[in-house]
Amino acid sequence: MPPLARLPLNDGHSLPALGFGLWQVPAPDTARVVDQALGLGYRLIDGAAIYGNEEGLGEGLRRSGLPRDDVFVTTKCWNTDQGHDAALRAFDASLARSGLDRVDLYLIHWPCPQRDLFVETWRALIRLRDEGRATSIGVSNFHAPHLERLVDETGVIPAVNQIELHPRLQQAALRETNRRLGIVTQSWSPLGQGRSFDDPVIRAIAARLGRSPAQVILRWHLQIGCSVIPRSTRRDGLAENLALSDFALTAGDLAAIATLDAGGRTGPDPDRFA
Ligand code: NAD
Repeated sequence: MPPLARLPLNDGHSLPALGFGLWQVPAPDTARVVDQALGLGYRLIDGAAIYGNEEGLGEGLRRSGLPRDDVFVTTKCWNTDQGHDAALRAFDASLARSGLDRVDLYLIHWPCPQRDLFVETWRALIRLRDEGRATSIGVSNFHAPHLERLVDETGVIPAVNQIELHPRLQQAALRETNRRLGIVTQSWSPLGQGRSFDDPVIRAIAARLGRSPAQVILRWHLQIGCSVIPRSTRRDGLAENLALSDFALTAGDLAAIATLDAGGRTGPDPDRFA
């Protein structure tokens, strides 16, 4: 799938298969990174309130000169803002910081099952969607029981579940749950923060194709049907991660990468993180 192809969402909208993420992008650099990435051809920005750089996200988007509707903007409701009214206030604050009047996708960042507020938070997101201020709504780091509770209690299925996913944590069961419910899986830390770059399987495929390990891994995400949001603050890294259209992994490559699944998380366990 070409990286700028769009994946259909279960609400009639769509999102670009590839975007770029803003976690750990320093606030003073964010507008430059966003403007640069959009200039290179990216059309999806993955932000979050907790990243502390929504001002730069909005500023970079304005600096790019692109029409607002050409760019897909995601942001997320942080854990301490869960609850119906708190989530509505958090959303307003995100819009105020970015200077946008809507986002394309608003996500609940973590389920935080110990707080037990994700269903009422979800009801707030449904309201934001119905008001047109969040075009699509979804979740992040949700496991099957969390998804099933949302659907059982509200009848509204998230459009996207953004989860940690890379060659060492392939999430086959959760991807299948998402697929069964009609939810797009979006991979966060898709490069495993570089942990698989030296893996011999990845290196051999990269050498054969004349591509970088990062490109092989990103291509793998697209070919297993995921949306993907790598982070780079360097122009050449951003460009490299976008150049995925003119090569493809074979079935043998996919089978070889499937053997690398080691269950290794880089982030917290969603069942415990609060
Ligand atoms: P990533 O897997 O994208 O790896 C980023 C690291 O790889 C950086 O150090 C970067 O410099 C390096 N890199 C990028 N492209 C490279 C290339 N072509 N060659 C060599 N090195 C390269 O890690 P990430 O930032 O953790 O994840 C990506 C995005 O996912 C985040 O920015 C954020 O938007 C999102 N995310 C979401 C959650 C969540 O809970 N929803 C959690 C973590 C990250």
